[in-house]
Amino acid sequence: MNLRPNLPPIPFIDLAAQRRRLGSAIDSAVSRVLNHCQFILGPEVRAFEAEMAAFCGAKHVVTCASGTDALVLGLRAMGIGPGDAVICPSFTFCATAEVAALVGATPVFVDVNAATFNIDANGIAGAIAAAKAAGLTPKALIPVDLFGLPADHAAVAAAAKAANLLILDDAAQAFGASYNNRRLGTFGHATATSFFPAKPLGCYGDGGAVMTDDDALADAMRSLRVHGQGSDKYDNVRIGLASRLDTMQAAVLSEKLKIFPEEIAARDRVARRYGEGMADVASVPTVPAGYTSVWAQYTLRLPAGRRDALAASLKAEGIPTAIYYPIPLHRQQAYKNYPVGQGGVAVSEQLAAEVISLPMHAYLDEPTQDRIIDAVRRALPR
Ligand SMILES: *Cc1c(COP(=O)(O)O)cnc(C)c1O
Repeated sequence: MNLRPNLPPIPFIDLAAQRRRLGSAIDSAVSRVLNHCQFILGPEVRAFEAEMAAFCGAKHVVTCASGTDALVLGLRAMGIGPGDAVICPSFTFCATAEVAALVGATPVFVDVNAATFNIDANGIAGAIAAAKAAGLTPKALIPVDLFGLPADHAAVAAAAKAANLLILDDAAQAFGASYNNRRLGTFGHATATSFFPAKPLGCYGDGGAVMTDDDALADAMRSLRVHGQGSDKYDNVRIGLASRLDTMQAAVLSEKLKIFPEEIAARDRVARRYGEGMADVASVPTVPAGYTSVWAQYTLRLPAGRRDALAASLKAEGIPTAIYYPIPLHRQQAYKNYPVGQGGVAVSEQLAAEVISLPMHAYLDEPTQDRIIDAVRRALPR
């Protein structure tokens, strides 16, 4: 029964509120590009790459057409290919494993930690063993900073170093977050991120970037994004792809980056209020000491079997929810034949059955959030 029939539906992510705030700054930025007509790798692309590098502390930023391409560029620049194993979590968005297969390598799944949703570094040795047992050479590791929270990069680096693995951080959901007081972008050998509109820093279409401190990797990725160009685009030194960030999207992102620190703080306030309002009725996410999250998702855990009822009662009150992710990758049709680490992936299975995400964005005002918290509290038995 709908107890509050007159309240308007709440958006899961409110891109329109941000658009209103940015106002004519965006229109002017896009107009500048429309006037100079340098639509591919125009001056706004170079400018945004420099701003992003300054923001996160990485030496190089190479923008490209999507977060997925950012991961592909990273793996290709690292020389990962057929016969190589790329270790990644099973509880993540499919692109994390997809890119390993796209470059001809083999994804090998490792489990995650139930409290952080991120890669369990203790499982990496078992994944290396499974890769070797399958006749593969373990070459790279893709930790994911899921839902905006950094992975335990010190533990990941230690496990990777012991086995000589290259690290490509998948920060598609977490650009702007920090680990031990350093922003993501400088952990591992390279870091990929996405500007898909729903990500914490999104553009008005598809876009992505790779960050690295390694000059050789940066050079290779700049070549790869323009068909493997050498001294110019008619000098082809490697097989590449056509993957640039549109100049127009770079112009949009420069405007959005200016307000991003304020938005990160606003997201954190929203997350804190959710935690205070619901910690006694559900398992709420926590941020370990020394980390910050950009809260790409605000994800509760409920005992298996409870979340459908919660989703239904919230929906009846105009409150959307989402399940990220209902099926772990090792169970997906496209990925189920790839190796799983020797420790198994029990936590990934458990989380897939327990998680549910609530509306989260920088413009969620307190009365609206109170409506959500109140509805969750009424729907869940204490
Ligand atoms: C969104 C996402 C990607 C892919 O980014 P696109 O820009 O959509 O290609 C990769 N990995 C993770 C974890 C993501 O959430």
